[in-house]
Amino acid sequence: MGGCDVVVVGAGFAGLSAALELTGRGLRVVVVEARDRVGGRVLTRYLPDGTQLDLGGQWVGPTQHRVLELIERFGVETYPSPEFGRAVIDHEGRRLDEPPAEVVALRAELDRLSREVPTREPWRHPRAAEWDATTLASWLAGRAATPAAARSVARATAGALLAADAGEVSLLHTLFYLASGDGLDNLAAYAGGAQACRVVGGPQALAERMAAALPPGTVLLNRPVRRVAYSAGSARVWAGDEVHEAARAIIAIPPLLAGRIDYDPPLPPLRDGLTQRVPAGHSLKTHAVYARPFWRDDGLSGISTSTDGVLTETADNTPPGGPRAVLTSFAYGVDAHRLRAMDAGARRAAVLDRLAELFGDRARDAEDFVEFDWAAEPWTRGCFSGHPVPGTWTGYGPALRAPVQTLHWAGTETATRWNGYFDGAIESGHRAAAEVAAEIGGETGGETAGGSGS
Ligand SMILES: Cc1cc2nc3c(=O)[nH]c(=O)nc-3n(C[C@H](O)[C@H](O)[C@H](O)COP(=O)(O)OP(=O)(O)OC[C@H]3O[C@@H](n4cnc5c(N)ncnc54)[C@H](O)[C@@H]3O)c2cc1C
Repeated sequence: MGGCDVVVVGAGFAGLSAALELTGRGLRVVVVEARDRVGGRVLTRYLPDGTQLDLGGQWVGPTQHRVLELIERFGVETYPSPEFGRAVIDHEGRRLDEPPAEVVALRAELDRLSREVPTREPWRHPRAAEWDATTLASWLAGRAATPAAARSVARATAGALLAADAGEVSLLHTLFYLASGDGLDNLAAYAGGAQACRVVGGPQALAERMAAALPPGTVLLNRPVRRVAYSAGSARVWAGDEVHEAARAIIAIPPLLAGRIDYDPPLPPLRDGLTQRVPAGHSLKTHAVYARPFWRDDGLSGISTSTDGVLTETADNTPPGGPRAVLTSFAYGVDAHRLRAMDAGARRAAVLDRLAELFGDRARDAEDFVEFDWAAEPWTRGCFSGHPVPGTWTGYGPALRAPVQTLHWAGTETATRWNGYFDGAIESGHRAAAEVAAEIGGETGGETAGGSGS
């Protein structure tokens, strides 16, 4: 294939953002994407009656400035998450109006510690080695007033944020992640927080408009990359049946998947070691569709958090004016594995039974039950994002973003702000594009060369 200035691997928000920046600087860019669509970890589906389901990422919040800028630039609309009624707080089977004081105290301590962590270089914190060698589970076991308080905080952080178990993540990574998203309360909040808004047409609509704004022929679908050769002066990328040669390549995919590419020459040991230590989280997000939002009759919001049971949290995902109501559930870590091990019928029954415990028997009357397993997707392999295992930040952290000759690394896992989110993916694309532009030039400005997309 003909040469270009930059090959971008992956057409998620990271790759598309990098491509928009670079084409805006007048550089010739090719984006090679394994799937037959753009958007990566976002996927919006409609049921036959028009009910919208966001099977991947869905929420945006007020301090996610990068994604909000793109939403505005591409003329995509947002709407606030529903704000009806009370949340269910299920604490060891008891219904509480507020989280218990011991949970609030633990959360506050994590937030306080997180504010000390430098998100660009977490390994530089004076206690980084100690915190990276301590799992969140063992830290909680030593601090929590009760086992239930430890479970509550473990499920709200390792679970709801990292889609992992508290024994799989270090205290240092947990603190980094909290810092990157402005603290646990902000990360967990609906109004005013990370779950404040949804996107009309789903975030996939935004990804599609970003791709459409690139010069024609920039995004090439069905081009899985399995081999990359690089030197000090160029990069060659084997994508499907094609080979693309460029001055630089941006690998805008999760570290786990970047590690599955065959590199020539092999990557330096630190970088290769990093890719072995950032597994994807394991979340199972399911959607129960009802004739109407029956939980609102009881003054409930559809939001729930639980210290026990297979579902860590639920949310009302009913789009405004939608034909039917949607209650979305999340299971994490071993709970997700437990559900995944069931056949589809048993899994549906297990989720609806738990919803019935939380919201009453009418929860069993779901008209549709929709699930999508990101762990079974070869070009994702788990979600929401990758998390470095204990010891990774301190042992391998500097390799996360450091270019390797002509190869640059993007993807939400490399972000310093809103790591794991759309916003972090966009930050990473902009950062990698800036690195490339600094090396090979291009006009300044970073404005999109293609259509307006709106
Ligand atoms: C269920 C779920 C819920 C989530 N909820 C939210 C939320 O509410 N808000 C939020 O902000 N974020 C959320 N996220 C996270 C968010 O979706 C991601 O952080 C973001 O989309 C990541 O973008 P990315 O470009 O870094 O990676 P990706 O979206 O993974 O993009 C990488 C792209 O590269 C492609 N690819 C992979 N390997 C190769 C290869 N070898 N060759 C070619 N192409 C390849 C993939 O197909 C993909 O298109 C959620 C994610 C999931 C799955």
